[in-house]
Amino acid sequence: MGCKMGCRFCVTGQQGFHGNLSAAEILNQIFSIPEFYRLTNIVYMGMGEPMDNLDNVLRSTEVLTASWGLGWSPHRITVSSVGIVPGLRRFLDVSQCHVAVSLHNPFAAERLDIMPMQRVYPIADVVALLRQYDWSGQRRISFEYTMFSGLNDDLRHAAELVRLLKGLYCRVNLIRFHASPDTPFKTSSAQAMERFKEYLNSHGITCTIRASRGEDIMAACGLLAGHHPCRLNGELRIENEELRVENEELRVENEELRVESL
Ligand code: SF4
Repeated sequence: MGCKMGCRFCVTGQQGFHGNLSAAEILNQIFSIPEFYRLTNIVYMGMGEPMDNLDNVLRSTEVLTASWGLGWSPHRITVSSVGIVPGLRRFLDVSQCHVAVSLHNPFAAERLDIMPMQRVYPIADVVALLRQYDWSGQRRISFEYTMFSGLNDDLRHAAELVRLLKGLYCRVNLIRFHASPDTPFKTSSAQAMERFKEYLNSHGITCTIRASRGEDIMAACGLLAGHHPCRLNGELRIENEELRVENEELRVENEELRVESL
């Protein structure tokens, strides 16, 4: 609940860290969704850094994928990360789930301005780690790139992305920024996003603009935060409210993926 990573554009990051979900609590979020039996994909994203709670994330994905569990293909599950290199390495070694890395800016100094973890784990090191694994099979690596007007949506960013990811079998997902009331960041125009996508695609990097849902209920990516402080030992009523919002996010994420794969 909450997040330690402190990305400046993220409402979840601004609310600070309040504790990790256990594997059972993660699974409870999934099983509590009314449409659970119709889920096609699950994304671990939008509320905290999965590599910062890796034991519980791995335990939950094991229940979802093991033959003694739900028997899902690991390729129905995507786990995101800002790029905590040791955790990511362990995850890649033991899991076949897809991975989505939050990139957001290819220039080290500019990325550091919005993502403090760049100081500890530079994106170049993260990409170097990813290059050590085979992505030509069914396991997929994608890069999430939230677009902010005037900050990372210029073609010089696109050109640097091409340089950074050259030769890596991957895809870049452009995400429209969901502006929250207190943020100084602005949403990129549809034209800027389209131009960026075209540049990447024409330079050999598969790129899509992600369909976005959930903005109206403050449950979209980067907006996910409870209206009440959530505490591990807080009142049950507060935690339930938090869980209800997170469930909504899982359902939304799943819909996003289905749109993408059409
Ligand atoms: S974007 Fe992700 S990693 Fe960054 S603060 Fe928000 S939840 Fe944490």
